Amino acid sequence: MVPGSPMMLTCERCGASILTGKYCNKCKAELVGELSVVAHDMTSVQKKLEHTEKMRFLKSDRIH
Ligand SMILES: [Zn+2]
Repeated sequence: MVPGSPMMLTCERCGASILTGKYCNKCKAELVGELSVVAHDMTSVQKKLEHTEKMRFLKSDRIH
C-alpha cells in the first residue's frame, strides 16, 4: 500500500491499520461483545418487567 494513500485507514480505538470501516477486527469483536452484554442485561430487565406485569395481572384477577 502507498503511504499517505486515501485508502489508508486506522482503527479509531487502537490505531491499527485497517482497510475498511472505523475499527480493526479485534476491536470490532470487542465492541460486539460489549453490545451483547448490554443486550443480555436488557433481556433480564425485560424478563423482570414481564414477571411484574404477570403478578399484577394475577392480583387484579383475584379482585374480580
Ligand atoms: Zn483496533
